[in-house]
Amino acid sequence: MSRWLVNQGLQIAIDGPSGSGKGTIAALIGEELALPVLDTGLLYRYVGWRAEEESVSLDDENAVLSMLDAAITSMVWKAEGIFLKEADAEKDCTSRLRDENAGARASKVAAMPQVRTALLDVQRDIAKLGCVMDGRDIGTVVLPDAQAKFYLTASQRERARRRWSQLKAKGEDADLERIAAELRARDERDTDRDCAPLEKAMDAIHIDSTTMAMDDVVDRILNVLERRKLINKK
Ligand code: C5P
Repeated sequence: MSRWLVNQGLQIAIDGPSGSGKGTIAALIGEELALPVLDTGLLYRYVGWRAEEESVSLDDENAVLSMLDAAITSMVWKAEGIFLKEADAEKDCTSRLRDENAGARASKVAAMPQVRTALLDVQRDIAKLGCVMDGRDIGTVVLPDAQAKFYLTASQRERARRRWSQLKAKGEDADLERIAAELRARDERDTDRDCAPLEKAMDAIHIDSTTMAMDDVVDRILNVLERRKLINKK
C-alpha cells in the first residue's frame, strides 16, 4: 500500500530523450504513489511495428496514414502495455515493441504530424483519472496542464552506456559504439522534427541524472510533489 495520499487526478509528466531513465523513474514513482504508469513511446513503437507487419514502408507517409485508424482501433493501451484486440481475447504485443528496431521505426512515424494528432486523444483520455505519463511531448503538448512536469536528461555517453548494460543484462549482443550512434540519430530526429519536438516545457523541472542514482532522482521528484502539496504523507 502506498504511504502517500495523492491528490485526485494528479498528472505527472516526465519527458526526456531516449535512455534518460524516464521509463525506470516513471515506474518507480507510479509504484510509490500507486498511480498508473503510461509509456507513450509504446504507442509510436506500435504504429511503426504495425506498418512493418503490413509491409508498409515508413518512407511512404500516405501509406502509413491509411493504415493508422485501423491500427489504433484494433489496440488497447493500458499501464501493462499494448494489446491487440482479437475475436475473443486481447493479445499482449508489448515485448515485440521493446527492441532497438522498433524504437528506430517509432521515431520515424513519430515525426508524422497526423500520427501524433491521431494519438493525442488516446493519451488524454487515459490520463484523465491521474497517472504518471512519460514521453517526449507530455508536458508541452499532451498534458500541458499537468500539475507536475519533469524533464529528465543524462549525457549521451551515459545514456548509451545504460542502454548497453540493459541489453547485456538480458544476455543480448550489444555494441556500445553502435548503440551510441543509434541514440545520436534518434536524438536528432526527436529534437529536429517540426511537430512536437522533444523540448523542455517552460514549467518543467530539469533533472540531469548523469551522475545520480535512480533512487535519488525518485526522492527529488517526491520532494517536489510533497512541497507543492500534490502528495501528502499518510
Ligand atoms: O521512449 P521510447 O524510446 O519508447 O520512444 C520511441 C520513440 O517514440 C522516440 O524516439 C520518439 O521518436 C517517439 N516518441 C514521441 N513522443 C512521445 C513518446 C515517444 O515522439 N511522447
